[in-house]
Amino acid sequence: MFEKVLIANRGEIALRILRACREMGIQTVAVHSTADSDAMHVRLADEAVCIGPPAPRESYLNVPAILTAATITNADAIHPGLGFLAENADFAAMVEEHGFAFIGPTPEHIRLMGDKVQAKLAARRLGLPTVPDSEGAVATVEAALDAAQRIGYPVLVKAAGGGGGRGMRVARGADQLKGAISVARSEAKAFFGNDALYLEKYLTQPRHIEMQILCDGQGGVVHLGERDCSIQRSHQKIVEEALSPALNAEERAYIGKLATDAVREIGYRGAGTLEFLYEEGAFYFIEMNTRLQVEHPVSEMVSGVDIVREQIRIAAGGTLGYTQADIRLAGHAIECRINAEHPETFLPSPGRIDEYHAPGGPGVRVDSHLYSGYVVPPHYDSLVAKLICFGVTRNECLMRVRRALAEFVIGGIETNLALHRRLLTNHDFLDGRYDVHWLERFVTSQRPGADS
Ligand code: ADP
Repeated sequence: MFEKVLIANRGEIALRILRACREMGIQTVAVHSTADSDAMHVRLADEAVCIGPPAPRESYLNVPAILTAATITNADAIHPGLGFLAENADFAAMVEEHGFAFIGPTPEHIRLMGDKVQAKLAARRLGLPTVPDSEGAVATVEAALDAAQRIGYPVLVKAAGGGGGRGMRVARGADQLKGAISVARSEAKAFFGNDALYLEKYLTQPRHIEMQILCDGQGGVVHLGERDCSIQRSHQKIVEEALSPALNAEERAYIGKLATDAVREIGYRGAGTLEFLYEEGAFYFIEMNTRLQVEHPVSEMVSGVDIVREQIRIAAGGTLGYTQADIRLAGHAIECRINAEHPETFLPSPGRIDEYHAPGGPGVRVDSHLYSGYVVPPHYDSLVAKLICFGVTRNECLMRVRRALAEFVIGGIETNLALHRRLLTNHDFLDGRYDVHWLERFVTSQRPGADS
């Protein structure tokens, strides 16, 4: 097993990884920007190295600085967390070339799944159903118009190198498509440095269902059931639950087998997530994330498996030591993403936390790096806390989330706590009747002056 792991990330996920290391008796190295000197994971780590100024490009994406920090602290392995360098195949390769273990998949698998056009082609070869699409990138507006004609409107313009819901545009007809292509292309170039676009049939009422898989790269493959991440705003997940209230056991077994067969076939190693849209009983693969996900805790709660611990064990050469038959999925878990953002404009709300009280009690888990007096820096993602609750039944879980949200106090900055509290009294949500477009309608209906 590793003696020392360097955590190449920040915020709640860095803390989550640090906690897993501590419980495994592994020393930790935090790397941080000058804006994060007082961050919780920096305070708790055995060693900390400042790797640059606040701008991510100069710190959390600064590969030479991170590799140097690993060298001088004598770390054995690097955990990339999520975001930043987690899905950068070149980084994974460089980590290994410098003699460190990369706690994640092989560079080849990261590369394959990182290009969504290639990933969908691979998925199709592996027997996964996919949303009808342009079958490759569309280089020109003419090619896009032809493809859209074949697929049928509405279509969704997506970036091949996309992520985080960025670079996506809906087009309901040829006129809209021309504009959508030009906006999406410049967005894709700015955000991902790759302006390749493709088209997909735009589904009007899908749910986002994703399968968590774990592979040891030595033949051991399991899934930990699905997560329903349909509660989204601007294509970004806000609430996730496991298991999905929309699937039955038969559908779960079906999609679980498809997902595990696919990753077994390619010899995948590590944790990963296959994302699907689900509409009228049919599944459509959209992408695979070759990393830990923000919403991994809900799968941990219903499966009893510590996914981060398993990532570390696998990277150290361990085998799973259990099979699908050993995975017992029980109870229900829900995660609320608490963002530092203005409740109406959704603009980021960084600043000093002057009051902090996290909920507790039975079945409540809070993954957060906040503390009273901490200053949320303006340079990074607005996620500041994840409230995860477990219940024997979905109903018990919902009541617990509602109770825990009422206890949560985050003072000094704006957050979306109020939105979560409102959600937890909405009948559609409580009944599990929602699709990926539902939250946008809900938010609009709540605006001052809206009917209803
Ligand atoms: P990203 O990598 O940017 O997160 P995804 O491909 O995972 O992009 O899609 C994010 C979300 O966008 C999905 O969960 C879903 O809500 C929406 N979406 C993606 N593809 C489609 C589609 N073909 N039709 C309708 N909605 C879609």
